[in-house]
Amino acid sequence: MTINNKDATLFIYSELSFEYIWLRNIILIKSYYCLTENDFRQLSYSQQEILRNEWTQIHFQCQKEWKALYENMDEVPKGKCELCGTSYKKPYKIKNEKNGKILIVGSTCIQHFTGIINNSKDDRKNAEAKLNELKNRQFIVENINGFEDNTKRIKTIEEDKSIFLNETLLNEKNEITQLLYQEFSSKLKKDKKFLNIENLKKINKRMISFFDNVQKQVKYCNDGGIFKINSLISKSLHTINDDKILKALRKNNGITTNTISYIEEPTFISKMIDKLRECPELSHVEIIFETIEFKELGIIFKEKNRVEYRVKTKDMLDIFKEYLFNGDSNLMKNKEGEFLNKSVISKNSLTLALSIIFDNYGNHDLEELICDEKSNLLIYFDRKKNRIFKLNLKEFVQYYKIDVYENRHGKNIINQIEDNENKLTYSELRNILKQKGYSDETINDIFTMIKQEMKDKK
Ligand SMILES: [Zn+2]
Repeated sequence: MTINNKDATLFIYSELSFEYIWLRNIILIKSYYCLTENDFRQLSYSQQEILRNEWTQIHFQCQKEWKALYENMDEVPKGKCELCGTSYKKPYKIKNEKNGKILIVGSTCIQHFTGIINNSKDDRKNAEAKLNELKNRQFIVENINGFEDNTKRIKTIEEDKSIFLNETLLNEKNEITQLLYQEFSSKLKKDKKFLNIENLKKINKRMISFFDNVQKQVKYCNDGGIFKINSLISKSLHTINDDKILKALRKNNGITTNTISYIEEPTFISKMIDKLRECPELSHVEIIFETIEFKELGIIFKEKNRVEYRVKTKDMLDIFKEYLFNGDSNLMKNKEGEFLNKSVISKNSLTLALSIIFDNYGNHDLEELICDEKSNLLIYFDRKKNRIFKLNLKEFVQYYKIDVYENRHGKNIINQIEDNENKLTYSELRNILKQKGYSDETINDIFTMIKQEMKDKK
C-alpha cells in the first residue's frame, strides 16, 4: 500500500495526523512527503492493518478539516500548488478550520474541497455549483468593495429588534433584498457569465446609502422625544405583532393619537404618567404607576376620600391622549366621566367605598346589614321600598362608584341597579345570617330594627 505526495501533504497539515504519530514520523523524515511500498513494510503489522482498513476514512476526515476561502488573490505570486506541486494559473486558498493553517492550491485540487466525495454524477454537479459559487464570490470580492459584508449587514438589520424602520426605509430594505436575490443569490451557483457586475455595483451603492439612512433614523429615534420610537419601544413593539398598528407607526415615523395606547413599554408609559401628573385638571388626583402589572397600571385615587380607581393603561392613554399630544388642559373637560366609566374600584378600597356609599345614603334609605368581602355578599335594607336586598358586593360598588367619586347622592343609580337586585324574604335572611354565624339574639335584634324602621315609615 502507498500514499501519494498530495494525500500525504494534506495529512501532515491536518490536525487528525497527530492521532497517528507513527505515520507522521515516517512521512516527515522524507523531503518529498509520501509513503512508498518500502516505507509501508517497515511499519508494524497492526499499523499496516490500520492503514489498510482506515486510510480512506482518515484521508476523508483530513479533507473535511479544510474549507475553501474566497478572497482577493491578486497579490498571490505565481507558484506551485502546495498539495500536488503542479503550477497553477489561478490560485485558491484553503484553510484548516482546526489549526488555522492556510494552503494555496490550484484549480484541480480546490475541487476536493468543494464537495466531491463519491465522484458520482450528483457529486460532480454539486461540486461544480460549489466551485461556481466560490469563483463568483471571489470575483465579487475582487471587484466590489465590502459587498459580502453589506449583504450580511442587511440581514443583521432585519433581525435587530431595537431598530424600527419607517415606511421609506422598510420599502428600501425590501427592494434591496429582492434585488439581491435576483442578481446575487439566485445566480451564485451558475456560471460567472450570468453575474452582472454593474448591477451588483449599483446594489452595493444602494446598500451603503441605506445603512447611512438607517443610522440617521436610529439617531432620530433615540434623541429623547417621547413620541419617537426608541430602541426600547421598538423592542416592545415586536411583541404586538399587529400589522395595522405597525403600519400606522411606520407611516408616521413615531407614535400618534391612534397608536399611543398600543405602546406597552414601561419607560414610555411612565413618561406618559409624568405628563398626566402635570395636567392642572388632574391636580386633585394622585396617579400611581404600577410596574409589576403595568398593563393595568393606572391607579387614580381621589385625595378627598382615598378610594382607589384602577384603570387599564390602554384605556387611560385613550382617554387622556388628546391632552398628552396637545398639552391643552381644556381638552380634559368631561374626561373624568369617561375615566370613571372605564375604571374599577380596587379591591383594597371596596370597604372604604361601601362606607362612603352608606354615609351618603344612610340617613335616607339604606341600612347595611351584612357586608362580606370574602363571599362578595352585601345584604342591605331599603327603607323606601321596605325590603331587604341581597347584592353582589363588587357589582354594588361599581354601580355607585360615581357617587363615591363625586361624594354625592345619585338617585338615578338606584333605578339602574333595581333589575339586578335580589329581594330576600325574612326566612331567607334568617338562614343567611345563621350561616354567617350570627347568634339568634343578634338576628332577632336585626329583625326588630327592620320592623321598627318599617313602622316609622308608615
Ligand atoms: Zn494541486
